[in-house]
Amino acid sequence: MLDQRIGPGTQRFAVLGESLAHTWSPYIHNSLFAAAGRDAVYLPVTVPVEKLGSAVDVLRSCFGGFNVTIPYKERIIPLLDEVDDAVRACGAVNTVENRDGRLIGHITDGLGMLRAIEEGGVAAEKADVLILGGGGAARVAGYEFLARGGRVTFAVRNPDKGNTLADELAKTQADGRARICVCPLGDIPSAHDILINCTPVGMYPHADECPVEEDVVARCGAVFDAIYNPRQTRLLRIARSREIPCVEGLGMLFYQAVAAQCFWFGDTGVSSGVQNEIYGQLLAQL
Ligand code: NAP
Repeated sequence: MLDQRIGPGTQRFAVLGESLAHTWSPYIHNSLFAAAGRDAVYLPVTVPVEKLGSAVDVLRSCFGGFNVTIPYKERIIPLLDEVDDAVRACGAVNTVENRDGRLIGHITDGLGMLRAIEEGGVAAEKADVLILGGGGAARVAGYEFLARGGRVTFAVRNPDKGNTLADELAKTQADGRARICVCPLGDIPSAHDILINCTPVGMYPHADECPVEEDVVARCGAVFDAIYNPRQTRLLRIARSREIPCVEGLGMLFYQAVAAQCFWFGDTGVSSGVQNEIYGQLLAQL
């Protein structure tokens, strides 16, 4: 069917990945464009690794911006003209802004996580957070909470990797490692404001697994799980049974897209109430 909304003046955006069969990004971005009345379209663009450079040349010449996903979040960096502080700290890009042919890299995953947590009614400013895991999601989470004056404890299965991550993030902080700790996943001390799971433990098909013992959950004031398949992980179910506020990972996916549009347009063109309605519609599809 001919889509009469799309014409020569339509602005083009895309997500670039190697396999995009399950991406929700076109649904989220096109819903936001429609709600804002923008003449813009967002497409999934599947690109094999050896064609990444030529694909980026095309996007530079005729796309307003694009997202990148696995396995291109690091590989894209040398192809860009500039990256922001968050990318320098986290070593990954998920959003590219095209400013008159100049490509600028940003990472909005951490912004999306923070917004999801705040929309869930949990205060993120100056929070003392316990982050499970030391990979990409843990790093962006740590960066954003430190940027908001918080304290971060990384609970990891490999302390050497955890200390390397802590040392790298410390270089981005005026007070060095003063607000960053590392501990073993099996030996987590003290209570924390927010527990954030950034390991894949509990993800489908291992939905009965939980990354920490129940007493660790009980010592935390709120829980966020970056996993969104299943939406209600075992970790979240344990927290809910103890009446601890919970936030599910799908919100991170949705609000990182909202943050990407803020880089492309300055704002999404719709109120936060409308954004939340679109998020509700996404939840209803699952
Ligand atoms: P990653 O870079 O591979 O990092 C995974 C981390 O979890 C590593 O520190 C790894 O430890 C640790 N880990 C893996 N298996 C473990 C186990 N069995 N026990 C204890 N620790 C384990 O992955 P990521 O990109 O950070 O993603 C982490 C999770 O966040 C995934 O579930 C992903 O789906 C989710 N995520 C969600 C969103 C969203 O929008 N909601 C966005 C990004 C990621 P080692 O370093 O020792 O291997």
